[in-house]
Amino acid sequence: MRNKVIAGNWKMNKVLSEAEKFVQEVVDKDPTGQGVEAIVCAPFPFLAPLVEQTKGTSVKIGAQNMHYAKNGAFTGEVSPVMLKDLGVTHVVIGHSERREYFAETDETVNKKAHAAFEHDLTPIVCVGETLDQREANETMNHIETQVREGLKDLTDAQIAETIVAYEPIWAIGTGKTASSSDANEVCGHIRNVIEKMTSTETANQVVIQYGGSVKPANVDELLTQSDIDGALVGGASLEAESFIQLVEAGK
Ligand code: 13P
Repeated sequence: MRNKVIAGNWKMNKVLSEAEKFVQEVVDKDPTGQGVEAIVCAPFPFLAPLVEQTKGTSVKIGAQNMHYAKNGAFTGEVSPVMLKDLGVTHVVIGHSERREYFAETDETVNKKAHAAFEHDLTPIVCVGETLDQREANETMNHIETQVREGLKDLTDAQIAETIVAYEPIWAIGTGKTASSSDANEVCGHIRNVIEKMTSTETANQVVIQYGGSVKPANVDELLTQSDIDGALVGGASLEAESFIQLVEAGK
């Protein structure tokens, strides 16, 4: 049985005092249970204090991006070594906002996925189609390319540990959620592509999240789908109360 993994992606929101207040509420409530994981993917400046605050609790702290190099002359960038050293466990890679505004490609996603495993971080690799691609019936091909290129040359064991997040771009921050059956169809397709790349056993271990306007009102229906193992949540992860409800839905 795969765990249910609920990850909040705060994007560029909050100041430190708000971040700490949120995390304290979640830690006090301890909404995880057997087979349910909660990850808060916070902006870089909050990572060190939030890792301290969550030590010994079930809440994990993730980053929203990183560079693929260990160190070097990359002004403004943050390396996997730095994240690991702080105690960060997860890192979001290739979010559509990074692909759109920061020129990330399947190639950089793949370099970052390799770097994550080299430094013992779990990558949350994001894939998803635009509205134009969906309307042109290109969703499945596009997703297959993103999965194959993004996970290229990882070992089967690494792919088994990877979290893949299916986030249709047209559903992000728009209030439009993919129907649970459409979301499940694409998540199942992702698992089939991974099965072709590896084996049935490996594909069955991969946690595949859905993301795009997930909220307490629609999370149950999404999480009961056969190939949806969790959620990557933006807007509804900003309030502790709704994040707690989302994590509790994983039980
Ligand atoms: P929303 O939940 O705000 O639609 O954002 C989804 C997302 O991009 C999470 O990474």
